[in-house]
Amino acid sequence: MVVDMHCDALLKLWQDPSKSFDDSDLHISYSKWKESPVKVQCFAIYVPPEIETNYFQAALEMIDLFHEKVINAYDDIKWVQTKEDIEELRPHEKGAMLTLEGCHVIEDLTQLRTLLRLGVKAVGLTWNNVNAVSGTCVEQPEQGLTDFGQAVVKVLNEFGVYTDCSHLSPAGIDDVLELADYPMLSHSNAKVVHDHPRNISDEQLIRFFEQKAPVGLTFVPYFLSDKESATIDDLMNHLDYMYELGGQDSIAFGSDFDGITKTVENLEHIADYQNLLNKLNEKYSKEEIMKFSYDNFVRKLN
Ligand SMILES: [Zn+2]
Repeated sequence: MVVDMHCDALLKLWQDPSKSFDDSDLHISYSKWKESPVKVQCFAIYVPPEIETNYFQAALEMIDLFHEKVINAYDDIKWVQTKEDIEELRPHEKGAMLTLEGCHVIEDLTQLRTLLRLGVKAVGLTWNNVNAVSGTCVEQPEQGLTDFGQAVVKVLNEFGVYTDCSHLSPAGIDDVLELADYPMLSHSNAKVVHDHPRNISDEQLIRFFEQKAPVGLTFVPYFLSDKESATIDDLMNHLDYMYELGGQDSIAFGSDFDGITKTVENLEHIADYQNLLNKLNEKYSKEEIMKFSYDNFVRKLN
């Protein structure tokens, strides 16, 4: 049983209206998903900041596609919003959950609450572009949460929804760790293992670990290493490092499938999760693997 906390398949469906969710180009297609050990897949609403149209409208269009092309199109894919929904999935069924990547799509708390009422269960405060909520890991990294950003986190606390810090500025992450009841990192790796602005310092990782907050290792090759071609062993270096740092109740996975053009060798689409599990089996106990792949995300899900 695996939960994957981040993918961009909805973006792919939104960019090409002729695409179905079983298109072979997708890293996460219906057929590949059915072959994979992934039980629950989070689908991010990610609105590219460069588009000309209204961001909130684009977010609603992606939620519409989530229902039309993913949930309603296949009897064995179920929309999941709570821990109970996930626990009730039957053996042949898969669960699909909505998340948001980047609060540039909301102009006010009404729009935020509307997305939460539509079932968004984790909210990434920023993508790489600075917005009304905070600076980011690459734009104004010294800028923490604004007053509006603090108000957003309070709403997420009230709704029992995860505050996702992937892409956020280091200053913003510090603020979230103070304010959020449900902090998380959906798709980020360890900065000490590979120094990249999207990766997280030991000091901050330890604070996530102390709260048993999910930290999703991601399969983005250039967050893993400098090498021309990254391997599952490179991903394992980040996982082992976080484990040694005390992350056993936080380590999770957020692939970023369909958000990346280059993939890790033998981890090229959702069905390849089996290769990662095989590697984990060589080193970790069943209980530990169950924590990484499932419990650490589901534990605090409301
Ligand atoms: Zn991302």
